[in-house]
Amino acid sequence: MKAVRRCVFCGGTAGSLEHAWPKWLQKWMNPNNERRVVQMPTGNVVDNHGWDVATHRHVCEQCNAWMGNVYEGPASALIRTLNTEHATFTLSPADQLLLANWAYKTSLMLECTKVAGPGVERGECVRFRNSGRPPSDCSIIFGFCDHNALAYHRSLITGEREQRIGYATTMVVGRLFFHILGDTRSLNPHDRLFASHFSGRQIARLYPGTGHPVAWPLAGYFTKDAVEALANFTDSPFEFIT
Ligand SMILES: [Zn+2]
Repeated sequence: MKAVRRCVFCGGTAGSLEHAWPKWLQKWMNPNNERRVVQMPTGNVVDNHGWDVATHRHVCEQCNAWMGNVYEGPASALIRTLNTEHATFTLSPADQLLLANWAYKTSLMLECTKVAGPGVERGECVRFRNSGRPPSDCSIIFGFCDHNALAYHRSLITGEREQRIGYATTMVVGRLFFHILGDTRSLNPHDRLFASHFSGRQIARLYPGTGHPVAWPLAGYFTKDAVEALANFTDSPFEFIT
């Protein structure tokens, strides 16, 4: 007998078709549905023909609707604006939390597209659904990239005895990049890693929130190579395919 698949967020009956790369995003980045390469969590490359790349059925109808109402709707306008050339904008602390949650949620959903099943423990999905924010030992930054892509990469950080001590996720959405770092060894690991970049204001921290507004555009941007270097800092190989 086939086991009933349970929603990763609430434990209800799963089966709702979830677009881990949101459909609005795929349509917006490729309005004419031309052949376009998308970099998948598995490292595979697929065409996004039909705007149906990266789907899974690990969520229920209610949780799918919740993601749409709480995150996709509000974040889509913001992400479009930030991707627009010469856009000037002030990101409020609430905007920053929305972007952080959107990136974190999208990362959880992209992990669910893996053939072996979700690469994140169900308990973390449940915690996120209930708390409405990333974990307290997680740091999320973002910036602008001179390379337009849809790409995702996640690597685990292991210690000397291969014990898991964290993870690093790089997500590129158009010309925005997000970097999500979970590191149980220290608070605010990005502050340590990118102290010089923070002072140059080329990146902004979304989570934990600073409580201050962020002026957009930032003072500088990342090149394609710099984003690759960021993704590779855990010695896990990543390079843009296009
Ligand atoms: Zn659910």
